[in-house]
Amino acid sequence: HPSERILPEKPASDRPVKDKSGPLVELAHVEKHFGSLHVLKDINLQVDTGEVLVVVGPSGSGKSTMCRTINRLESIDSGVIRIEGEPLPQEGRDLARLRAEVGMVFQSFNLFANKTILENMTLAPIKVRHMPKKDAEDLAMDLLARVGVESQASKMPSQLSGGQQQRVAIARALAMQPKVMLFDEPTSALDPEMVNEVLDVMIQLAQEGMTMICVTHEMGFARQAADHIVFMADGRILEKDDPDDFFDHPQTQRAADFLSKIL
Ligand code: ADP
Ligand code: MG
Repeated sequence: HPSERILPEKPASDRPVKDKSGPLVELAHVEKHFGSLHVLKDINLQVDTGEVLVVVGPSGSGKSTMCRTINRLESIDSGVIRIEGEPLPQEGRDLARLRAEVGMVFQSFNLFANKTILENMTLAPIKVRHMPKKDAEDLAMDLLARVGVESQASKMPSQLSGGQQQRVAIARALAMQPKVMLFDEPTSALDPEMVNEVLDVMIQLAQEGMTMICVTHEMGFARQAADHIVFMADGRILEKDDPDDFFDHPQTQRAADFLSKIL
């Protein structure tokens, strides 16, 4: 149902008590190499609670690597990444907790192929959050309904369209009640007619106050949903702007060239 919220409204007493005066996500002087390839160069970035940040830039500029460092799918060589002021853990139990706080949706549909949609949804809440099975299933069905795929719950992923699978992937990430959602080109592998059903879910999440970092080439989405746009090239952040400023008056020649190719 389109008018229904995706995210549950939190009662005031349930709001986090941590210090919220700083940014939710912060990268400071982050450096990353793959062998001799220098992929992230002095990355400095802050994302506030409720902010929607869209990351754009040419292929190979380090957008995916930057996203993957934020939930430690990639390590960093130096610098620091903080969530609510706490530096990311390097390993161990804290890493599982961190991954639960950072939801991620990838370009390729990364559902478990040999599990039903419902099982895909409940696996992590039961294992990582220690949620009772019944509660996890209730939450799963609720979230599936909100992204419009509840009728698919008992099917296998391969029986769903790409757009449906990507909406399940979003719902699955939300089931962990993450503080921030990372989207890495979530619509790039979709047939064109399915792009909007996924973008609509992302726009609704943005409107409901979810903190989001989105790598995307969907410039209509960026203009509509982004609070800020970051432009990356060759491992560096070259610009951070309001969407209208970025699209209408890019500050660098690199960004102007990039925009002239994709718009
Ligand atoms: P983008 O998402 O902007 O296209 P990526 O972060 O995927 O860029 O890649 C940045 C650079 O790092 C590219 O040159 C890519 O080939 C390289 N790269 C990415 N992942 C790896 C890896 N696991 N090992 C070696 N090189 C990698
Ligand atoms: Mg990428």
